[in-house]
Amino acid sequence: MIEVEQFLGGVWGAGHANGEFVVRNPADGTPVTRAPEASEADVADAVKAARSAAAAWARTPAAERAAALSRAADAVAEQAGRLAELTTCEMGRPLASARDGVDAGVATLRQYAELGPLHRGRSLAGGPDALDLMTHEPRGVVAVITPWNDPVAVSCGLLGAALVTGNAVVYKPSERTPATGCALTRLLAGELPAGVLSMVTGGAAAGAALAASDVDVVAHVGSTATGRSIAAACAATGAKALLENGGSDPLIVDAGVDPVWAAEQAATGAFANAGQLCVAVERIYLHRDVAVPFLDALVARATALRMGPGRRSGTELGPLVDRRLREHVHAQVSAAVEQGALARCGGTVPDGPGAFYPATVLADCTDDMAVVREETFGPVAPVVTVDSYDEALSRAAASPYGLAATVLTRSMGNAQRALRELPVGTVKVNAVFGGAPGGAAHPRRGSGDGLGYGPELLDELTVTKVVHVSAPAGGW
Ligand code: NAD
Repeated sequence: MIEVEQFLGGVWGAGHANGEFVVRNPADGTPVTRAPEASEADVADAVKAARSAAAAWARTPAAERAAALSRAADAVAEQAGRLAELTTCEMGRPLASARDGVDAGVATLRQYAELGPLHRGRSLAGGPDALDLMTHEPRGVVAVITPWNDPVAVSCGLLGAALVTGNAVVYKPSERTPATGCALTRLLAGELPAGVLSMVTGGAAAGAALAASDVDVVAHVGSTATGRSIAAACAATGAKALLENGGSDPLIVDAGVDPVWAAEQAATGAFANAGQLCVAVERIYLHRDVAVPFLDALVARATALRMGPGRRSGTELGPLVDRRLREHVHAQVSAAVEQGALARCGGTVPDGPGAFYPATVLADCTDDMAVVREETFGPVAPVVTVDSYDEALSRAAASPYGLAATVLTRSMGNAQRALRELPVGTVKVNAVFGGAPGGAAHPRRGSGDGLGYGPELLDELTVTKVVHVSAPAGGW
């Protein structure tokens, strides 16, 4: 079993005894990791150390900070295989896909190492003898609280952007992936002055203590419920809350598309990472004209997916992160079936070890079903058949979330209507995933607040200062 240590103020293994927790491999239930549950005193120590280190790190030239981040990216790249293995053991993701997540993390670190020194202010047009400009300053101490579903990629984005802009960071990886978070911390911290990056481990209590502590920003990627409680904690302390939260992303399948291609897109969107992605396809609005061949093709693709442990080569569908999530997903599916949905495939809990759940296609769904209305963090494709594109658009827009949406259509006019009318941060036309690097979208409503990705994340993690310098009476 891997023993994880906390990293407080540059010291590995620091902290007060407050119990431990064990992470089990979701493929077979065997214990993988043991980690300390951070106490409030541990959180306070980490924040205090970050506060002491923040001023010197903020004064370090931007190019030096960027060089440190660039070296850290190289170190992460060298250990990419190990980080992918840890991810697979702790949260179940098939190894090749876990490796993609690590590679994405390395690319993000490199991106922020490049962008950091270029993140400049601007000069203003003041009087002829004055100097007027706007500068960026780090915000101070940033709490980075991350989820388990893409643990390296998500963490690298927030950590890279916060560090390169001169903030000190207290990082709390998910309690489901502490060994992955710890390994990442070791690689980054090896290139940073003591105290600039600390890591506490633990669950909701540790996260809540960190969110309520003396930090300047709480950057949280995770569920909407947690994001809301962090927003409340920040309202009490005055810290800025940066929230990238859950979604219930619609996929609209228009009349006239190739139904087999559309089903392939739907399967990729709904079943990748066993549906445990913030931007997974969560509900499908399917035009009646293509309903029969689309559903047949989607069911064929779902039943052909190779389900198995993430470490087995060729696995396409790994387990869910744990049995608690599986119970939740299955309850949503069962409730939909009771309300009249038809399980065309899947929908049953398999025998045997682990937290596996089959790719599930639900036909005849309606918007009042929880599986359509809420986020379903599992390999489930609920399908609502509609009579027109208008109906699909208005139903897709009526959601308490606003993360992303995809439209499959051959009509440029319909594509343009989707871009204009869908109240979400990202609209994708004819591809469920992909897109240029560096995009930063505003999530809406329950999906969060603030720009958690791209160059704009550097703006979120800094404050601007307006400077006006005038000559004294009689000149300099
Ligand atoms: P979660 O919110 O339960 O946990 C995320 C982190 O928050 C963990 O480190 C956890 O310990 C911590 N936490 C839990 N309760 C807390 C509290 N009261 N105060 C402070 N911290 C607390 O989410 P999860 O189950 O780990 O992750 C899945 C969720 O993340 C899904 O909803 C998914 O959509 C979302 N997600 C969003 C994005 C995005 O960019 N929008 C990306 C990845 C995942």
